[in-house]
Amino acid sequence: MATGKINVSVENIFPLIKKFLYSDHEIFLRELISNATDATLKLKHLTTIGEASVEYGNPMIEVRIDKEGKKLHILDQGIGMTEEEVKKYINEVAFSGAEEFLDKYKDTAKDSGIIGHFGLGFYSAFMVADKVEIITKSFKDEPAVHWVCDGSPEFSMEEAERSEHGTEIILHIAEDSTEFLEEGRISELLRKYNKFMPIPIKFGTRTETLPKPEGAKEEDEAPTKEVDNIINNPEPAWTKKPVDLEEGDYKEFYRELYPMQFEEPLFHIHLNVDYPFNLTGILYFPKLTNDLNIQKDRIQLYQNQVFVTDNVEGIVPEFLTMLRGVIDSPDIPLNVSRSYLQADGAVKKISSYITRKVADKLTSLFKDNREDFEKKWNDIKIVIEYGMLSEDKFFEKADKFALYPTVDGEFFTLEELKEKIKPNQTDKDEKLVVLYASDKEAQHSYIKAAKAKGYEVLLLDSPIVPHLVQKLETTNEKLSFARVDADHIDNLIKKEDAQISKLSDEEKEKLKTAMEEVVSDKGYTIQMEAMDSEAAPFVITEPEFMRRMKEMQQTGGGGMFGMGNMPEM
Ligand code: ADP
Ligand code: MG
Repeated sequence: MATGKINVSVENIFPLIKKFLYSDHEIFLRELISNATDATLKLKHLTTIGEASVEYGNPMIEVRIDKEGKKLHILDQGIGMTEEEVKKYINEVAFSGAEEFLDKYKDTAKDSGIIGHFGLGFYSAFMVADKVEIITKSFKDEPAVHWVCDGSPEFSMEEAERSEHGTEIILHIAEDSTEFLEEGRISELLRKYNKFMPIPIKFGTRTETLPKPEGAKEEDEAPTKEVDNIINNPEPAWTKKPVDLEEGDYKEFYRELYPMQFEEPLFHIHLNVDYPFNLTGILYFPKLTNDLNIQKDRIQLYQNQVFVTDNVEGIVPEFLTMLRGVIDSPDIPLNVSRSYLQADGAVKKISSYITRKVADKLTSLFKDNREDFEKKWNDIKIVIEYGMLSEDKFFEKADKFALYPTVDGEFFTLEELKEKIKPNQTDKDEKLVVLYASDKEAQHSYIKAAKAKGYEVLLLDSPIVPHLVQKLETTNEKLSFARVDADHIDNLIKKEDAQISKLSDEEKEKLKTAMEEVVSDKGYTIQMEAMDSEAAPFVITEPEFMRRMKEMQQTGGGGMFGMGNMPEM
């Protein structure tokens, strides 16, 4: 038996590993399964290019709990390691075999999905184990190796009995980590990190009910059989080509992603790009109204089908973080701060690619089926309006499909609206005046009065409307917005026949003076013409700009649902 010292510069790396990664102990399993997956994919690659003489077959990875022995086993049927390789890849911490492999097979292995340098790697096992064993046999004709390390830099290595190629990692779970001997906890981790990994992962068995044999009686129990409990779907929808998927497949995948989500998504966007960065994924537009799961069911970030996080802040523009789905990209740097992420060139490109794809999808939905788009508008407007405010690139595209509903449920694009109001809603400065209500009930009589004069009244009720109308005014020189109860309405050039008030000019002047004494606040104005005289002879209005400023202060600098100014991580 050989013994030796793990080649690290720090005298004892393990207490450090434990201490620094305290909060993230659970990722050890992801790391070990990633390695097992790499080992299997490497073998697959070598057999395909004819560099390995062994049969690839249908390999799987297995996770097994030995509660009594306080051990957790992770087994694979991959490439395995020779003694030389254990020395090189395991004993020399931070030497990545994955990198070397990819380097060696540069031309052929590009799309093999090998994960490599993912996180802390093999040594993360010591976050939860005080002793780790490796039993491994290479696919090459060399003896198996048994490596043991008890958490100090000393290890032992000897020949082992094992005839099949592959690797078994045995973790002797530490006293403070016994949670990882619980089936429920391991299940949870497998579900979280490994649900879509490319090699089948077995965790125990489950009972499967078989169809009753022919001629069986009603009361006969259906026969059952024990089958491998495979916890993952190795071929999730996002790894497939859009042409191979139907609408139903996308919905099914949505349920797979969010099992507790019963509402169907409104539509999806399949992302697929390999230059200048690699990214696949599927985004879903959920129904956002009254949705309590807004924070919980979020976009999930994967790398080569390994779950990384469901905090995609900095990668996806903020206005799209309300969407759901999956993004898989090996080009997003991990374990870096959010501010670093935002400055990263690849991430910037990814972010604008996603924005563009979402805008393009909305454009085609609008063009292909306007009626359906109008039906969905209420559920998607918050994302679109927020996007128009926060991303200029998105604004340019959305300006063509963003809809402005009237209080009567008609929908206009901004261009259509301008055409529609041109003849009747111009003010002294030749600006088009868009009238809108924010609350159909509360502003009922103002709406009625405006409509009696033949004006169109929009219903704009999202919380960010004050910001949005401001933006639209700055991008459209000859356009101004006024809420139906604002003073602005009096500035509209009136057509002769639109005069509704039955009071004489003299009566009006008297009434106005009297009212101005009552309403002494100079912030408000008495208007005699704005109102339908049957509803009321005059109205008290507040200047549009005053109200809007107050509202904008209330809703903050454009933050969405209080998510506006998130602290840097
Ligand atoms: P990385 O995965 O980034 O290369 P790790 O520390 O996770 O770094 O693993 C180091 C190396 O050890 C791997 O690259 C691989 O060569 C070897 N290795 C680890 N686990 C296995 C395994 N299950 N089968 C074969 N080789 C393995
Ligand atoms: Mg690894």
